[in-house]
This record gives sequence, C-alpha cells and structure tokens, in this order.
Amino acid sequence: MAMGFLKTVRDQASRNGLAKRQSAHAAKMPSLPDRANVLSDVEELGIGMFWATDANGHLTFLSQRALTDLGLGAEDVLGKPLTQVFCETEAEPGEAQQRAIGFKLKAHSKIEDHVIAIAAGNARSAEVGTRWWRLNGRPLVDASGTFLGYRGSALDITSQYAHDMQIARHSQVDELTGLTNRRKLGQRLTATLAAFRASQRSCALMMIDLDRFKHVNDTMGHPAGDELLKKVAERLKSLVGDSGEVGRLGGDEFQVLLPDMDDRGTLGELANRIVQSLSQPYQVNGRRAIIGTSVGIAIAPYDGVDTDELTRAADMALYAAKESRGGTFCFFTTELRDAANKYAKLGERLRDAVDRGDLKLAYQPLVDPVSNEVRCFEALLRWHDEQEGPISPADFIPVAENDDLIVKIGETALRQACQDAMQWPDTIRVAVNVSAKQFVRPGFRKVVASALEASGLDPARLELEITESVFVGDLEAVDAIFRDLKSLGVRLALDDFGTGYSSLAYLKHGHFDKLKIDQSFVRGCTENGDINPAIITAIVALAKALDMQTVAEGVEAMDELELVRARGADLVQGYVYSPAIMQDAVLAKFADGTMRVKPNGPPRHRADRISIFRKVGLIHEDHYYDVILRNLSKTGARITGLAGVLKGTDVVLDLGHGQLVVSKVVNATESSQGLQFETAMISDGSGGFMTRHRISPYSLAEAGIPLAALGAGKFPLAKWREGHKSPPAFVQLDLNV
Ligand code: C2E
Ligand code: MG
Ligand code: MG
Repeated sequence: MAMGFLKTVRDQASRNGLAKRQSAHAAKMPSLPDRANVLSDVEELGIGMFWATDANGHLTFLSQRALTDLGLGAEDVLGKPLTQVFCETEAEPGEAQQRAIGFKLKAHSKIEDHVIAIAAGNARSAEVGTRWWRLNGRPLVDASGTFLGYRGSALDITSQYAHDMQIARHSQVDELTGLTNRRKLGQRLTATLAAFRASQRSCALMMIDLDRFKHVNDTMGHPAGDELLKKVAERLKSLVGDSGEVGRLGGDEFQVLLPDMDDRGTLGELANRIVQSLSQPYQVNGRRAIIGTSVGIAIAPYDGVDTDELTRAADMALYAAKESRGGTFCFFTTELRDAANKYAKLGERLRDAVDRGDLKLAYQPLVDPVSNEVRCFEALLRWHDEQEGPISPADFIPVAENDDLIVKIGETALRQACQDAMQWPDTIRVAVNVSAKQFVRPGFRKVVASALEASGLDPARLELEITESVFVGDLEAVDAIFRDLKSLGVRLALDDFGTGYSSLAYLKHGHFDKLKIDQSFVRGCTENGDINPAIITAIVALAKALDMQTVAEGVEAMDELELVRARGADLVQGYVYSPAIMQDAVLAKFADGTMRVKPNGPPRHRADRISIFRKVGLIHEDHYYDVILRNLSKTGARITGLAGVLKGTDVVLDLGHGQLVVSKVVNATESSQGLQFETAMISDGSGGFMTRHRISPYSLAEAGIPLAALGAGKFPLAKWREGHKSPPAFVQLDLNV
C-alpha cells in the first residue's frame, strides 16, 4: 500500500521535474531568478514546499505556502527545532517503524520519503488539524566539509495518508468492538513469540469464550447481542489495562496477549477477575442479560513456542474450563491433552451405559446439625465404568447435556428417586438434581407430574435442586416454569448458591424453599482470617428473612460442622455425616430404626489434600530419585519410594514440566516422608495445585537440553542426571512393587 502510494507521488514529482531539480547539485542549479521562479511555481501548483535548517537542526526556512496551509506564522516555526515542528508518525501498517528523523538529523544523513505529522495552527480539532507530509532533504556542506544544515522539500500527502491509514486500521480492528481483530492478533502473536524466543522471554495467551451468549442472541435478538459484545469488550479492556492486548477473534471469542508474563498466580487472579466481572449482569437495550465466561491459559515457552502450538494449548485449556462447568479458568497441562482424547470417547460409552441401565442412584443424607436427625436424602448419580472405574457426575453430566441424553438420564433418575423414597419413612424428603437444560425444556412439568403419579409420592416430599445457571436469558419464562412446578406442590432448592451469578433478584420471587450454600464457602471456613464464615452468616440471615431453609454443603471436619451449626444452617450435608450410599444401605439404616447419624470426621479442616499416586522426581544434592507422590496440598506433600531420608533434609520435588518445588522433610518414617514446601502452590482453577513459576525450558536448553525436548513427558532432567555419579544419600526403593 505504502509503496504504491510512494510511486504515485514519485511519478507526479518527476512529471513536474521536481525530483530532477531536487537531486541536482547546487552548482548545477539554474541561475537565481530562474530558480526562485521554478520554486515558487512548484509551490503554487501545490506540488511541493521547501524547508531548511541550520547546523543545529533549527528551522530557518519554510515555504510561505506551507505556512498559509498550516495557518501558522513564520514566527511559529522559524528558529524551532525541526523535530519539534515535524512529529514522527506511527509505523505504517506492514512497514517497520522508520528510523526517527532526529536520529537522521544528528547523523547528517539523507532524508528520503520520511512521513511526518505536523499540527496545523488553524485547526478546529486535533484530528482535522493534523497534516501529513512526506519529507526529502539533504545535508548541506561547504567547501571545507563543514555541515551547514539541511535543505529539503515536502509534499502534503494528508488526504491519501489518512485514507490509507483508515483502511489499514480497518484491517486490524474489529469493527464492532474496536478491539484488535483476529488477523492482527495472529500477526502480533507470531511476531511476539519470534522476538521473545530469541530473547528467552515468556508470553501468556488467554482464550476467552462467553458461556450462553448464543442464548442471549437467540432470545433478545442480534442487535442486543452486538450491544452485549461491546460491553464485554469494554470490561475486558479495563481489566487487562496496559498489561496486555485484548482482541476479538470473532463471535463470542476473545483473546488476551500478555507479554513477559509467566506467573501463574498473577494470571489466575486476572483470569478470575475476568470470569467474575464478565458474569455480572448487563443492561442491554433496557433489558437484563446474564452470561458467563470461561478462560483458557497457555504460556510460552512452557506450553508451546510458536503460534500454532500456543494457540492449540490455550484452546484446549479453554475447552477444559468450559467442560468443567463453565464460569472458570483453566491452565494448559499435558494431562489435558490426554483427557481431551478420553473425553471424546466418553459420550459414546455414556450412551451405552444409559441403555444398559448402568447408572445408579446413591443417596446422601441432609442432617439437622442440632439433633443429628436425617431430614432428606439427595439423589446423586453413580456410574462405574468397567475400564475407567467410577466416573463423577460432575464429568458425565456435562457430556450428557451436550445432547438429549440429559433428558433421558434426568427423567430416569427422577422416577427412580421417587420410587425409592416411597420405601422411606414419609417424614423424609428426597432431593433430585435437575440440570438447567432439562429444566427449561417444554414438558418438564409433565415429567415431574408423571413421576409423582407413577410412584405415588407426596409432592411435598420431592425437592428439585436447580442451580443458578437457569437464570439466563428469558427470566419471565423461567419464572413461569417455577410457578408451574410449585403448583404441583413440589419444593424447590437453589443448589450451589454463591457460585453462579449470585444475584439476589431471583430470590425475591419466593419460589425457593431451600438455599444450598456451596461447598466452596464451607471448606476451610475455619481457617484463620477466612471471610467465608461471614458469608455463611449473611446467607443464613438472608434465607431466614425470605423464609427459606439453608443447607451447608460439603462439611467434612468437626470444626466446620460446629461453625455452620453456630451460624444457624438448618441442615448439613457432607462427609462428616455420610457420603452418598446406595438404596440398600439407606434401607438398612432405617431398618435399624436409626434416623440419626453421628457426625464423624477429622477434628479440624486440613488444607485440601489431593490423594494421588503418581511417579515424580526428587532432587537431593546432586542426585535424582524417583518417588511416588501420595498426596499433595498447597503447602506440602507425602512421598514414598525412598528409605533413609532424615527429617530436616532439604530437597527439591520435581512435579514435571518445569515445576520444581523447594521443600523440607518435616517428618519421615522408614519409607514415607512428609514434605513442607518453601513456597505454597497455587490453585490451578480446577481443584488441583501447581507451582506459581516454572523453570524455563530456555534454562534447560542452556543446560544442554534442546528445546525439542519440551514436548510431553517427563521433565527432561535425565541428561542432567547422567553427569552426577557421586554416591546417593538415600536408598531408592523399587517403585514397581
Ligand atoms: P451437587 O448437586 O452439588 O451435589 C453435591 C456433591 O458434593 C456430590 O458430588 C457429593 O458427593 C459431594 N459432596 C457431598 N458432601 C461432600 C463433602 O463433604 N466433601 C466433598 N468433597 N464432596 C461432598 P457428586 O455426587 O460427584 O455430584 C456432583 C454434581 O453432579 C452434583 O453436585 C450435581 O450437580 C451433579 N449431579 C449428580 N447427580 C445428578 C443427577 O441425577 N442429575 C443432574 N442433573 N445432576 C446430577
Ligand atoms: Mg445438588
Ligand atoms: Mg451442590
């Protein structure tokens, strides 16, 4: 584009003899009167203007025509540094930034086709007032070689330049939101990664996808959808600020590029803020709209070194975040890649399992924490796959929701639960989970009515658990479904309260009989400085004011039970009383005549400990051992596989993929050791832990490990190991027994 334009100007200039004259040496120039005439002709024609500086780069001459055009007087410019009057422009799209004019002046080098911006004094606004000139100039030296200053010409290229810039800008900018568009983002990512690879810098990429945007588009119309996207763009821009570049890839997909960023703690916090902020309600054309957001994060060079690799990794992380239930963020891990493959096969196996009737219901009691009496059982689906073992409903329900399978699964569960409850004492209710997809389907009321009728269950004993995700889009329609269901006489519970949109507006309609306080507020609520007890108190008070019961979910430890009881929760559901048990076990309990359950759990909450069985590495002095990771918490881990390790030993745990954790052995038995981490791990956004930083693959490369070794698999310390052969301090046990 720029070249084409340049050619036009050049052609024009040469047609008028300007180029020839301009490049002519002073000695060969026409005699003075002729010269003045020619120059003023040129100026008159508007083809060119002239300028001159002294040896210090101060303007000593500017064509009268230029002054008139700019609405400036000679006194406004003469005597001023040329660099002050002529300003650098942004790089033209597709061109490298031109070398600064100040630099050329200092170096006394020739100025060729240098585009500058110049502010006109008669401008009504800065936008209108800016003119663009293309400068040419050459240094003038006297016979002794002393530099005297510059002589040069200028062409006003404003109309063409502004037009070109506009076109260029359009090709880089998403018209709807004004954010960088997909094409430009791609270019920028490629350029950044290439440059950063050389300088071994990191760069994070976030993929952002709105949850349920299609629903807003479908129910509120496309103009409303467009409005919403603009608002999303604004929120994103203000959240990311100067730390990165936000772009829209198209549809409801956005991307954030964050150069020099590999701190997963900071990234997680930003992603969390994005999720929280974008899920706040929007006012669109006078109506309220709610959407959610999922974020996937990948970091170069750890998760990929080129555009394709990094984009694929971030996409995969996004997919995982969406599948986990949406409204969360997720970091890329190589395990994700494996899980993605596995997940693809899950749908088919689930369908077969449903056909064979392999999905079973288990029941978890909801207990009055004062009397320890069971008041209700929640029906929870259980699937034991022959190959995979038990698969959590948190994993397969979203798969089922992808098609009509959820309708079948939900209906079967509802019918079964009603029948099972008929065998319980009639003071005990049954709670059944209803997915939002199932809930908003026409005919859901009929399904409920038919399940009640077939089983003969008193509707007042049936409780439907719904999550906040039903409050999307058309609230009036949802309201009608609620009223319809209530007219059957069933009770409604709001599940996982506090994790979704947490808007109180939908509580005031008074449909709900029960609020279930999400586990995330309960778990760890007894830890010092935790704000959750205050939240629990507030939710309980709110529920009481609106005449709703409260359930504290996920209570595991005795001190948590004590806390939620003291804060007034009506019911408690959690391992402290019982996990979900099968119907036979429920019946056996009743046969005992026991309606009471004794709480039983650890006295205190412990930092989440994830039980695992994974081979990892352990570095001590110059030795590398294989160990089995038995469990992992934010602050420590338990390992087996070594003997002879003393308490107090400093070691480094290698969790793979550059995750090295400096640790101290705080307790040790013959074959198992407890490690305490020097720096706490951070949450990976999906229930696991990870280190805030990783050892850069570049550092590994420097240690002789090629970048190609970056791919999946174990952290490539093997090479490093080979060179270290001093006697080991610990006994390596056989891990395969
Ligand atoms: P939910 O409805 O919030 O169910 C409570 C979940 O918390 C259950 O997980 C339960 O086993 C678990 N839980 C209860 N007490 C504790 C505790 O003390 N500690 C911990 N760590 N967990 C506890 P589960 O059975 O894996 O179910 C997960 C989710 O899957 C359920 O969350 C529900 O949303 C969904 N789900 C389960 N069954 C059905 C169903 O029949 N239909 C539908 N639509 N969704 C279902
Ligand atoms: Mg539930
Ligand atoms: Mg729940």
